[in-house]
Amino acid sequence: MKFAKILIPLIVSVLALGARVSPASDCSLSNLDSLGRAGTASAVLGPETIPDKDRSPISMFYPSGFRPNVKYDFIDGKYLYNRCHLIAFQLCGVDDERNLFTGTRYLNTHLMLPIENEVRGYIEETGHHVRYTVTPDFRDGESVCRGVTIEAYSVEDGNLKLAVYLKNVQPGVMIDYRTGNSSQAPTQMGKVEVYVLNSHTMKFHRPSCRAVNDIKQSNRDDYYGSRDDLLDMGYAPCKICGP
Ligand SMILES: [Zn+2]
Repeated sequence: MKFAKILIPLIVSVLALGARVSPASDCSLSNLDSLGRAGTASAVLGPETIPDKDRSPISMFYPSGFRPNVKYDFIDGKYLYNRCHLIAFQLCGVDDERNLFTGTRYLNTHLMLPIENEVRGYIEETGHHVRYTVTPDFRDGESVCRGVTIEAYSVEDGNLKLAVYLKNVQPGVMIDYRTGNSSQAPTQMGKVEVYVLNSHTMKFHRPSCRAVNDIKQSNRDDYYGSRDDLLDMGYAPCKICGP
């Protein structure tokens, strides 16, 4: 699935029932449900919602399914789970437990961040506004969401328009979405395969490939895990090194 690049027209969604407007911003956050899970978060983002303050500590919040101390050596930063914002702090400046969910490091930094950066860049460049909605995909009684849907639409000109579904996965790790428990994926237990990813071109390389040196640091990731997982995530093998 080529998740991050699909542009489809957005039907501006009606706010979820029960959503309420936070007085501190234009963010509309759903109340946590009976299982403590966040719901749809929505905002009209613009130059005035971009925070000029630093993020306040959020380590006292425990989003549903969160496990603070679960680490894997092959994960960048080690920790499997991050306290992820539904609507990024850099876009709305809201640290509120209703704006947080348990997301993998991979979802946070590799899937959500590029989109958030794009939206922020668009706002800074144009001074325009973006209708922005993030909906976590909680199934049945599960405490960790399977993914998030991000919808964005630039109000003044319609030039920015996207709707994507991003999976809450971590390469090499199996997650029990019911509880938040996790284990190393079986494919890794025998042989760990090492590749270098380019999140911009969505290609993966052998570490020795000459193209690796040309990857911008912000697009590069060292990957330890199965090739099949990579293909599932939408990566394609490099034509030079043929991994
Ligand atoms: Zn290559």
